Amino acid sequence: MKTYILNDGNSIPALGCGVFEVPADGTTYRAVRMALDAGYRHIDTAAAYNNEAEVGRAIKDSGIPREDLFVTSKLWIQDYGYEKACLGIRASLAKLGLDYLDLYLLHQPYYDVQGAWRALEKARDEGLVRSIGVSNFTPRLWQEHIPYFATKPCVNQVEFHPFFQQRELRAFLEREGVLLAAWSPLGHGMKELLTHPLIREIATRYQREPAQIILRFELQEGCAVLVKSTNPAHIASNLALFDFELSDEDMKALRGLDTNRGMRDPEEPGRAEYLLAKYRVH
Ligand code: NAP
Repeated sequence: MKTYILNDGNSIPALGCGVFEVPADGTTYRAVRMALDAGYRHIDTAAAYNNEAEVGRAIKDSGIPREDLFVTSKLWIQDYGYEKACLGIRASLAKLGLDYLDLYLLHQPYYDVQGAWRALEKARDEGLVRSIGVSNFTPRLWQEHIPYFATKPCVNQVEFHPFFQQRELRAFLEREGVLLAAWSPLGHGMKELLTHPLIREIATRYQREPAQIILRFELQEGCAVLVKSTNPAHIASNLALFDFELSDEDMKALRGLDTNRGMRDPEEPGRAEYLLAKYRVH
């Protein structure tokens, strides 16, 4: 598995298995067990997904040594502010049944971001978390908060797929030495993306599935990729990305699919209130 070195010196597997909106009714447990059996070693969950406990059980039952795994979770905005964030991090660890997390992120760029970040720095200093980062920060939101942080985040996890290639943010993060991790790398399963004529044509030529072309494109663009599936065939094929390479010409053609518009805009007025009302962690 390809890895990236983060700006704090730790390494992160380039491909991870995400569990957003996967129900905690045994489905998350089964999906994570299947992913670990298939060979994924990076799992991406969040307090707001309300499935950390099933992720933890699947990890434990897999029997894979902890040091061979990379586990990411995220602090929810309900727990922002220094004191609440200190408790939130411990709540994630308790639900996951882990002594430490490899990566912990501020899930959203709203409310008391700076207090929450100080709690992440403390958790890292105490060994509860190896690396710390953020999610859903646009260049403007980054400039609003990150200059006040003592430590620069090592990851910004954002929406990224061929229809939304985040050119401005990527150039910015590259200058800052921060890894972009791609959420919704298949556009949340968007049909227009998975059946796009260019992607299908490239897939036919490489004798691959459209999803593999999309995910491989994202890896070759230098992103970490977090893909979700509960389907065993997809879980296996989404991992089979490391035995082929897209040509410069095909990469160029795929770059041409960018519309510079995402499914979500973190700067949209009312977004913080909407998210806070929609996802409750306690
Ligand atoms: P995604 O990975 O872009 O797409 C998932 C959808 O694609 C599912 O419906 C899945 O259905 C389908 N799919 C998966 N593999 C496929 C394949 N090979 N061929 C055809 N369809 C396939 O969507 P996502 O869950 O929105 O994003 C992935 C992860 O990113 C999340 O799970 C989460 O960890 C992270 N995320 C983070 C944030 C954030 O704010 N930080 C936001 C959103 C997501 P099947 O189950 O049937 O395969």
